[in-house]
Amino acid sequence: MVAHSNMVIDGPALWLDLMETAKFGGTPKGGICRLALSEEDAKVRAWFAKTCEALGCTVTYDSMGNQFARRPGSNNDLPPIMIGSHLDTQPTGGKFDGILGVLGGVSVLRALHTAGLTTVHPIEVVNWTNEEGARFTPPMLASGVFGGVFTQDYAKGRADKNGITLGQALEEIGFVGQEPCGQHPASAYFELHIEQGPVLEAEHKTIGIVTGVQAMRWYTVTVTGQDAHAGTTPMTMRSDALWTAARMIDGVHHIAMAHGPDGLGTVGIVNCQPGSSNVIPGQVQFTVDLRHPADDVLEGMEKEFYETLSHIATSCETQVSIEPTWVSAAVHFDSFCLSCVESGTEKLGYSSRKIVSGAGHDAVYVAKVVPTAMIFVPCWKGISHNEAESAEQPDTTAGANVLLHAVLQADAQLQTA
Ligand SMILES: [Zn+2]
Repeated sequence: MVAHSNMVIDGPALWLDLMETAKFGGTPKGGICRLALSEEDAKVRAWFAKTCEALGCTVTYDSMGNQFARRPGSNNDLPPIMIGSHLDTQPTGGKFDGILGVLGGVSVLRALHTAGLTTVHPIEVVNWTNEEGARFTPPMLASGVFGGVFTQDYAKGRADKNGITLGQALEEIGFVGQEPCGQHPASAYFELHIEQGPVLEAEHKTIGIVTGVQAMRWYTVTVTGQDAHAGTTPMTMRSDALWTAARMIDGVHHIAMAHGPDGLGTVGIVNCQPGSSNVIPGQVQFTVDLRHPADDVLEGMEKEFYETLSHIATSCETQVSIEPTWVSAAVHFDSFCLSCVESGTEKLGYSSRKIVSGAGHDAVYVAKVVPTAMIFVPCWKGISHNEAESAEQPDTTAGANVLLHAVLQADAQLQTA
């Protein structure tokens, strides 16, 4: 038996698993198209079950098709320490988003198996169903049911573009169990993921200790002016909705910059009516996405946003209405789980920084019911949800090693707690 502190995962084996599973739904451009509950998803699920069983695990399913590979501990009355992420991808997804978290978990199982080490808690690796939301919207559906954010009826009723519901697709491919989703206690949850952003790579850091997920708010803004002739209406007598919107969009940019570097403001959709070269636009609708890691700062940004838009509308002789369409509060991960990630990183000597996730993950919803933390590793140029998504083998190995040591630390400390 190897001493805990010297244990490492088998990096080349993890890389091989990543390349092996990339064949299920592999695209000519080197990416993956593996939509949730598709035939390809069934194949990777079968691979995951078989691989974990060979490492001494028992694989079970809950009513949402979430897949749990359980390696027994010495005290199986204790709730398991969970590791997980997702094996589904975007239609033009990459080889690492989600997959690294599940296969990193498999590499932890393999390290324990090889070392012949029995942890106190059972260790479970989870594959959450339909994280991407590409086939069934919204994203993180099954971890959302697990975390009590969505009801199972709602989730199972979500239909794909062909009208097939998630519930029907699940019955069709199998991989569904009797255990009601959410009735699966756990002591802690760790998720390893590529950053999907450029910060770690730019700063030459190997590990991101993810402290939480930023708060986000979405709005639809409608500016109403007056359609008028472009040739006969003097500049001083116009009520131009698009000129107003242009100034507002600039305002959104400045509000975010004033709360930099963490404040973010994006206008992603603009619709202009009536849409004719020689007509002054009478109505413009655009979306706004505001983000910040701190709820109170985002609240302040929202206040400035309302004031700025109202001021601009008045000075442009137009009217504005703002409709909030989505609010997501900041998530702060569990301090004990974070300390396990931090001490694992330190012990292994990897360079690191604390980081707030800009994207949603299964961990966001799992965190509602289980103490949770995440680990990020760099990805090439921060590119993700893209077939060109790429990560370096030493980084995937490092991330899985931190995962292993975070789990061992949690196992040692939780039993004495
Ligand atoms: Zn993901």
